[in-house]
Amino acid sequence: MPIQLPQKHNAADTTIFTVMSSLAQQHNAINLSQGFPDFPIEHNLMQLLYEAASHGFNQYAPMSGLPILRDAITRNFKQRYNIDIDADHEITITPGATYAIYTAFSAILRAGDEAIVLEPAYDSYVPNIEMNGAKAILVKLEAPTFSVDWNKVKSAINTRTKAIIVNTPHNPTGSIWGKDDWQQLAELVRDTDIMIISDEVYEQLIYDGKPHYSVLQHPELRERSFAIYSFGKVFHNTGWKIGYCIASANLSRSFRRLHQFLSFSVNTPAQYALAKHIIQPGLQAVNIMLEEKRNYFLKLMHNTPFKMLQQTNGSYFQLGSFEGISDMPDTEFAQWLTTEYGVATIPVSAFYGDKTDNKLLRFCFAKKEETLLAATERLSLVKSC
Ligand code: PMP
Ligand code: GLN
Repeated sequence: MPIQLPQKHNAADTTIFTVMSSLAQQHNAINLSQGFPDFPIEHNLMQLLYEAASHGFNQYAPMSGLPILRDAITRNFKQRYNIDIDADHEITITPGATYAIYTAFSAILRAGDEAIVLEPAYDSYVPNIEMNGAKAILVKLEAPTFSVDWNKVKSAINTRTKAIIVNTPHNPTGSIWGKDDWQQLAELVRDTDIMIISDEVYEQLIYDGKPHYSVLQHPELRERSFAIYSFGKVFHNTGWKIGYCIASANLSRSFRRLHQFLSFSVNTPAQYALAKHIIQPGLQAVNIMLEEKRNYFLKLMHNTPFKMLQQTNGSYFQLGSFEGISDMPDTEFAQWLTTEYGVATIPVSAFYGDKTDNKLLRFCFAKKEETLLAATERLSLVKSC
């Protein structure tokens, strides 16, 4: 009899990102599935990592993160958003954003609570809620713009609701929140004890001169929010797995109570390197380069039978439809595209609890031009089936 351990969540045994990246590797396919860049990180960042290790930054960092990194984040947010953040009490450095989201849910939820998730959603949210004994209440965003229907959110709220997780710029759709969305949310949660987790990992990957509105810019919501960030996206180093959580001193205390017994602290040399890198004057914004990649990818996709949805406003991702090419379920189609044409993507049904299949694929365009060119050449050969 095999050992039976409890199932802590109802999601797949293996995430779609691992499934598709492994399939891509197995078939030597071009990988536009999992969201990671294939271009190198900046030379300065590599050197700083070496400098950190050679200057002795090799032991445990303080539990909340290296002071130089927390100070650098404070300065950065003042400069970019004119927000004042207390580096000592309001910032906690984490091993990536996924971990920070889990920790925030864990700080908020008790068994039997409910948390609202707007779908399609990044695939860790629902399992994270379930791993804390709570129930995820799923509210669908309105295709094709993937905006929020606030009446639906309102109907999902009851006395058990303890958290709402939001994500802007949004994975997988690339939609972004305006000021009005935050205001609507503020009105819904006023006079409740609902906490907000705001996943803003793509805050700096926003295009066409549009601003990112952070939950931290809304004074009323800020009081009840955990805002979550990831350096991986900003500096093309997703494998470093360094993120952070910004929350009021009170909420940060609850967050750190858990963090100290989950990972305690985060890779010291990488924190040092990031801090020194961020404080350089004249650091190039990453969104210009990624906006060019988005435009290049969209132009090339005209030569393929795929129909692109509205161009993404932010993130690494662009959605496209294969309607008219095949009636296959999207998961099957994505596998077929990988094995038959050598291009891996993510089927968008993976981001829905009920596996809603709108015949959409998510393409990651954070790739070298040559990768995008080779992938789209292959996609231009796709025949209806
Ligand atoms: N949130 C969203 C919306 C994401 O797309 C990702 C993927 N990188 C994360 C969180 C996790 O970021 P990290 O790699 O820092 O854990
Ligand atoms: N955030 C990345 C994506 O959406 C993947 C992260 C992961 O593999 N868990 O593709």
